[in-house]
Amino acid sequence: MKLLLIFAALVAGVFTERTFIGDQVLRIKAKSYDEINQLQALETLAHLQLDFWAEPHNPDIPVDIRVPFENLQSVKVYLESNNFEYSIMIEDLQKVIDEEKQEMEMNARKERNSGTFNYGAYHSLDTLYNTISSIAQDYSSLVTRQQIGTSYEGRPIYVLKFSTGTNRPGIWVDAGIHAREWVTQATALWTAHKLASDYGKDASVTSLLNSHDVFLLVVTNPDGYVYSHSADRMWRKTRSVNSGSRCYGVDPNRNWDAGFGGPGASSDPCSDTYRGPRAESEVEVKAVADFIRAHGRIKGFISIHSYSQYLLIPYGYKCTNPADYTELMNVGRAATSSLSSLYGTKYTVGTICTTIYQSSGGSIDWTYDLGIKYSFAFELRDTGRYGFLLPTTQILPTAQETWLGLKKIVEHIRDNPY
Ligand SMILES: [Zn+2]
Repeated sequence: MKLLLIFAALVAGVFTERTFIGDQVLRIKAKSYDEINQLQALETLAHLQLDFWAEPHNPDIPVDIRVPFENLQSVKVYLESNNFEYSIMIEDLQKVIDEEKQEMEMNARKERNSGTFNYGAYHSLDTLYNTISSIAQDYSSLVTRQQIGTSYEGRPIYVLKFSTGTNRPGIWVDAGIHAREWVTQATALWTAHKLASDYGKDASVTSLLNSHDVFLLVVTNPDGYVYSHSADRMWRKTRSVNSGSRCYGVDPNRNWDAGFGGPGASSDPCSDTYRGPRAESEVEVKAVADFIRAHGRIKGFISIHSYSQYLLIPYGYKCTNPADYTELMNVGRAATSSLSSLYGTKYTVGTICTTIYQSSGGSIDWTYDLGIKYSFAFELRDTGRYGFLLPTTQILPTAQETWLGLKKIVEHIRDNPY
């Protein structure tokens, strides 16, 4: 009986994993605002099950759409008969996912055999959490692991606190609020190790941590992260149950109390940008918001996403510039030029609304309105060649270059107390 149950669980496990066989990612270069409007209209057609990796906003920015195999032909016919210019970015999404999975398994075997953690690989949540604990143990005079909350499905939400004194102002960095953006959790973990190991060696890190505490949240959305490994590689949202709907999850970056319910967030629980029933309905969002409110002296808030290579500043829920626009843009430009100096990776700096699209309920708008002047969001590599499926060979270069950008921002915060 027991064996039978185990077998049933295994079969269920194998067959419940979502596949993307023959799905393609198309890149469309809109030639006019009229075409942008047509693509936005396409997005509202739920039956096509389109997954917009990069949203239609203005003709300068290409639109990337994952099209399920079964709707590929009709979408292509539509695009061609309306004279859209498009190319195929990913020929068969499942192939790329399979390769990524194989690589992960190979790496996990290597790590087990060698007993070392490879920062240049993707990992399960358990492995990330083990490494978070190891960093706190290995650098116990500098780093502590704090649980700031529990996810919807009961997983701990761990923050690493880097501190050398008491009553210091704080700087917050988080990653992985969107589950499928795997390079962000990997980058954040590498950054944790870098901060810990550079203290006392690197003058900039040392002076930063002698005046400020740094709080680093590697996996903001642990349920989504686990789900993106076990069931649906393209999962973005949380995993909460939506009452009255068969669809799960809320977009946790539409769930903050900043223009909540406004444009650029969906009221449809089945949408990937579903805002949730109310602001902070998601325990993962509430845990961070509560922490920030309770701390009271967070001076910088940096949230890490992928992809597109943007460094973004408020606002997203409205299209007016923040009061500190000039300063934030200057800091952003200094950060991205430092970032680019390593591998030439090009970044665009700007407000969320002008750079990507108007979107409400985002974290950095909420922190900025709360009085955290230095609120930024990174969109890491790439610009769409692999999108969310960034090859592992790019993890370390991404982390290393991002570090240079982060450093510029935190140095500015350190040198400009307010
Ligand atoms: Zn994101």
